Amino acid sequence: MENMPALAQTAALTGADIAELRAGFPYFAANDQRDEPAAYLDSAATSQRPARVLDAERRFLETANAAVHRGTSGAVGEATAAFEGARAAVARFVGAATPEQIVWAENATDALNLVALGIGEANAGLGVAGSERYRLEPGDEILVTEAEHHANLIPWQRLAAKTGAALKYIPAREDGTWTLDDAREALTDRTRIFAFGHVSNVTGLVAPVAELVELARAAGAITVLDACQSVPHIPVDFGALGVDFAAFSGHKMLGPNGIGVLYGRAEMLDALPPSRTGGSAITKVTMESALFMPAPQRFEPGTQPVSQVVGLCAAVAYLEDIGMERVAAREHELVERLVAGIAETPGLRLLGPADTTQRVALAAVSVDGVHAHDVGQYLDDQGVLVRVGHHCAQPLHRALGITSSTRASVHVTTTEDEVDRFLDALRGAQRYFGAEVSA
Ligand code: PMP
Repeated sequence: MENMPALAQTAALTGADIAELRAGFPYFAANDQRDEPAAYLDSAATSQRPARVLDAERRFLETANAAVHRGTSGAVGEATAAFEGARAAVARFVGAATPEQIVWAENATDALNLVALGIGEANAGLGVAGSERYRLEPGDEILVTEAEHHANLIPWQRLAAKTGAALKYIPAREDGTWTLDDAREALTDRTRIFAFGHVSNVTGLVAPVAELVELARAAGAITVLDACQSVPHIPVDFGALGVDFAAFSGHKMLGPNGIGVLYGRAEMLDALPPSRTGGSAITKVTMESALFMPAPQRFEPGTQPVSQVVGLCAAVAYLEDIGMERVAAREHELVERLVAGIAETPGLRLLGPADTTQRVALAAVSVDGVHAHDVGQYLDDQGVLVRVGHHCAQPLHRALGITSSTRASVHVTTTEDEVDRFLDALRGAQRYFGAEVSA
């Protein structure tokens, strides 16, 4: 393991392990030396990168930079090998049977759009062999949940508008959650697509993906999983879960930004038309038409973000070296601490499940009597870095009867002290704004 502390592979991560991991992140190493270090609790928005990832990107750019899949030079061959090797590594990491099931995209948003736009193309008569399976008729249904991030909502709204399909949703319950039974009720024999989040970026709720996929398949629906907040935090095996498509982003999993992933079951990707076209993705072009390569190259026109792919590969190796089970176990402890601290503070409303076994990596609250932006300002003054606002989930906030919330999110490098500083700062904000509630 390069630049990696010698962690025991099976035991739970200790405080000393976390300190060692943090020392390997330039951001935390510098931060932790300051007189007033910040508490970084915003990994759900974007995570920090270990030196190992930054070094891999830099080394590639300094020694091996070239456009991939173009030309015949040895440099191109080396860059292409790194690019395709990363595809194989990411495939293994998320349980894809073959590297061809991994498509590089800009981020999760882009990956989700590749699916929705591709289905739109199939319905506009621009399909490839097998695209009939994506046919949507007026009266067909696209099902989402009210808890979706806008990235897994708006592309489906637009696909529905283009095709005449109806966009339906599973309503959020009072605490922002939804259940397998709710999905069972909402799926009909007209449901063609069921798009849902694996882990909510507001409530932290983990969806029972395998069971949902089974229900969807029985109804004849394609499944699209927004795995943006799951892949960075818990072991995920898309093959075992059975989803047709899944999307996630590099920058939330200790990797670079500018790189995201679309996973697809082989037969689904093969039948999906490209929605962005241009150089490199084709086999034959005439002045009238173009023939496209098979997946994944069909979806990767233009010069590719190779250093980002190399960085993502390093992030995957880093997480694998720690072990995703241990990452999940460590983060679970932190979430338990967060939720317990919120529960024992009167005047704080926890969004999402109080049962921490149903929650991953984050907790958002609404502070009675104080606007989230005021809370955010106060927390910022205390050096507690969180996200305030609607977190790109306006419909969910509306359903909860609020416009915004304050979210703390953790990663494997987060410390107990950071969590406690968040909780103390929330209580401080209550006092500062005169919103303290006695028990
Ligand atoms: N889905 C969820 C659940 C998210 O949390 C995010 C990022 N906030 C996205 C999708 C979009 O990710 P990106 O901005 O990296 O495309």
